[in-house]
Amino acid sequence: MTKQRAAILDIIRSDKSHHTADEIFRLARQRLPGISLATVYNNLHALENMGLIRRITAERDADRYDSSFIPHGHVVCERCGKMWDFNIDGLDGLLSDAIGSEFSSYELKVRSLCDRCRKNGVA
Ligand SMILES: [Zn+2]
Ligand SMILES: [Zn+2]
Repeated sequence: MTKQRAAILDIIRSDKSHHTADEIFRLARQRLPGISLATVYNNLHALENMGLIRRITAERDADRYDSSFIPHGHVVCERCGKMWDFNIDGLDGLLSDAIGSEFSSYELKVRSLCDRCRKNGVA
């Protein structure tokens, strides 16, 4: 793995922020000043194909990257696009019961407001 690719993977694994490519680019540049946005995109694509990260599409916002493959849901802030994880105990069992078989993954996205946007007032 190249130095760039390892740095990008480390950025995604180092916190649970579900960074966008732009944010990853900004953080990667602090470590590797010469890195370009195109390189970041190429490596994100490669890491996704290698099964080391996964891309989460967010309709009105840029795609985000997650290093966790454990099934979990995402809450998306309707105002600023912040994304964070949530889990429901027993959900896996409920889902397999509902569809009558095992499943490999699911996508669960709930729209709400993050703490900061809620404090700044609901429009
Ligand atoms: Zn917000
Ligand atoms: Zn997540």
